[in-house]
Amino acid sequence: MILGAIEGGGTKMVCAITDEKGNILEKMSVPTLSPEETIPPMLEFFKGKNIECLGIACFGPIDLNEESKTYGYITTTPKTRWMNFDFVGAFRELNVPIGFDTDVNGSVIGEATFGKYKGFKDGIYITIGTGIGIGVISGGNLVHGMLHPEGGHMLLVTHQEDPMPKGICPFHPNCFEGYASGPSIKARWGKNGAEIEDDAFAWELESYYVAQAIVNMLMILSPEIVILGGGVSHKKDVLLPLIHKNFKKLLNGYIKTEKTENPEKFIVAQSMDDNQGILGAAIIGLNAYNQKQQK
Ligand code: ZN
Repeated sequence: MILGAIEGGGTKMVCAITDEKGNILEKMSVPTLSPEETIPPMLEFFKGKNIECLGIACFGPIDLNEESKTYGYITTTPKTRWMNFDFVGAFRELNVPIGFDTDVNGSVIGEATFGKYKGFKDGIYITIGTGIGIGVISGGNLVHGMLHPEGGHMLLVTHQEDPMPKGICPFHPNCFEGYASGPSIKARWGKNGAEIEDDAFAWELESYYVAQAIVNMLMILSPEIVILGGGVSHKKDVLLPLIHKNFKKLLNGYIKTEKTENPEKFIVAQSMDDNQGILGAAIIGLNAYNQKQQK
């Protein structure tokens, strides 16, 4: 079966043709400029490739409510050229079933289907980069609910020694993204994460916020696995051991399982060379196809 997939990011849009086994047959990307500039080459890429469905995993916030008039739209994004853009509508002319979800839900289902830890039914994917996004699978299903999880904006307790006690999110002084995204690291320390020394306090602070967010999610969602991706996670050799240490410290022995005792088995780095998002998008398309077959 030939599947089409789009991973829609704020910097670039990745398009791929894949099979249902997780093989990427063809791939291209275009910079995320305006919809008028970016969408036409994407449409062209898919034409004549005999795709049987299309999955779109896109940055949010997006409208996933199929009853809504604006289903398939990007909604209140700060990327103003994409605000209220009908993403799904732009691809209807391909005349195949289209699945639509968040970029991070794409990544979590990509990992659950093809990754090193595949097969989990309760798992969380956290991307830490320009922003912070969290994708959730609960009981085998991607979580949508009222909208979709926006875990990057969960409120956190400020570290007592944080030199920037007010985070950079324009909505919240103390949310996860405002404290721990790539731009917040730059705002706090005056340089990008890649330029910061491995032993700097910056990483202790970063790991404190990531660990706190994971403890909060563990209490509510009880995941079997937490997978970290995104640009900042490329510092994983420095960051993961610190996250494991702070996770145990913050949990303070409250939940005792094999995984909380051995957090290196529970909080792990993405395992698919950054292909989890695009292959997850393909699965989102496949799910839409299967749903249509059932009707
Ligand atoms: Zn926020």
